Amino acid sequence: MSVGGDGTHGGRAASGSADADPSVDDPRDVTGLAGPAPTTVAFDIGEVLIDETRVWGIWADLVGVSRLSFAAVFGAAIVQGQDHRAVFPHVAPNIDWAELASEHERRYGGFQEQDLYPDVRPCLDELAAQGVTVVLAGNQPASRREELEQLGLPCERVATSAELGVEKPDPDFFDAVLDLARAADPARVLYVGDRVDNDVLPAAAAGLRTCWLRRGPFGHLQDLTDEVTPDLTLEGLGELAVLLAGWRAVADEDQEGTA
Ligand SMILES: [Mg+2]
Repeated sequence: MSVGGDGTHGGRAASGSADADPSVDDPRDVTGLAGPAPTTVAFDIGEVLIDETRVWGIWADLVGVSRLSFAAVFGAAIVQGQDHRAVFPHVAPNIDWAELASEHERRYGGFQEQDLYPDVRPCLDELAAQGVTVVLAGNQPASRREELEQLGLPCERVATSAELGVEKPDPDFFDAVLDLARAADPARVLYVGDRVDNDVLPAAAAGLRTCWLRRGPFGHLQDLTDEVTPDLTLEGLGELAVLLAGWRAVADEDQEGTA
């Protein structure tokens, strides 16, 4: 594993807004980051790019419980280490939720502009301006790729687990991400995800650098384990581009110093 566990990397907590933390005015403020800076950023999709509030609200409506109740049980399932599907037997024990999937999709209508977190476009624009390669890859049904592409986000490529034929946290998913990014060295790829179990841990184990985005139900509720320390820990994407620029500057200086 190239990151985590040795106390030399990251763990830098930052706020979601550059205005809230004067230290980010200095792009060199990347204390603790070591090694070459990533040249590719691979983004998870759910709760990193897409706010899933509509997804779960529609599910609550469909199974006939309040959105508050559904969200509370969802959170309890996460804390118990269960899959999100564990919600349904609790809130709707007499309903086969899978039979409602097509009606849910009809009401949801796929990813829409309103579902994007507001910091996504500015972040991706800044990364593109820096010449950083951006790919989007997460556990999603196949149809979500086209929906994401139709949103016109500045990125090189998009892939879903359904199309790749493998889901996180399977190590093969992260091999597929490297292929998607045309990246030979996993240490030059930063994976940004909201979940410790599905994103940070397996990405680090595959040799990628990691950014833990603490938003969404999993991002707020999960805890890190002793197995890994993310290179970056952020509450939003607002500072990611400036931190990467700082990381690059420090890495370049280190390289010059050793040349
Ligand atoms: Mg996610």
